[in-house]
Amino acid sequence: MTVAEVVDRETLSARVAELAADIAADYEGREPVLLGVLKGAVPFLADLSRSLGPRADIDFLGLTRFGVEGRVSISMDTATPISGRDVIIVEDIVDTGLTLSYLRGLLETREPASLATVTLLDKQTRRIVDVPLEYRGFEIGDEFLVGYGLDWEGRFRNLPSLWAVLDLAELQGDPGALGAAVFSTGR
Ligand code: 5GP
Repeated sequence: MTVAEVVDRETLSARVAELAADIAADYEGREPVLLGVLKGAVPFLADLSRSLGPRADIDFLGLTRFGVEGRVSISMDTATPISGRDVIIVEDIVDTGLTLSYLRGLLETREPASLATVTLLDKQTRRIVDVPLEYRGFEIGDEFLVGYGLDWEGRFRNLPSLWAVLDLAELQGDPGALGAAVFSTGR
């Protein structure tokens, strides 16, 4: 199987701890809501929130994307009212920026006290819309990644580190081989 580990578990965990330290310093004295975008942000949010200390609430929302222009609607809304709260959107990856740009617009209408975004991964070179990104874990290239929340057709979100799929046709031909290859490395 032509896959390569691009960010290993130790590097992920060290970088997530650094992001948490930056956020904790910036939000000192406040109690932000970490708003995870389902489902990809789940592992990142879990690790980030545990490094952040006691002062953070957690909530989630689900999005449905439609159309090539990246329009989104909320398919599962937050349980927490966000009006007047310091909201930090937690994303797995920002690619064209269209999803995040729509989401920020939607959330702004609910009048949070502040709105910021932390993304684990940033495909900066593929950006179509300029969207503010206050915190980013890693800037990456154009390769298709899976693991640590990122999926291919719903699979591989549970891989503990990040892998680049170098041959999507090969993956389509034998989807089971990737998981087997990754878990057999003991990583
Ligand atoms: P954007 O609206 O910024 O173009 O889209 C972001 C979404 O694209 C992510 O939430 C994710 O679903 C998908 N995406 C972009 N790049 C990748 C990638 O390398 N791997 C996976 N699994 N999804 C990606």
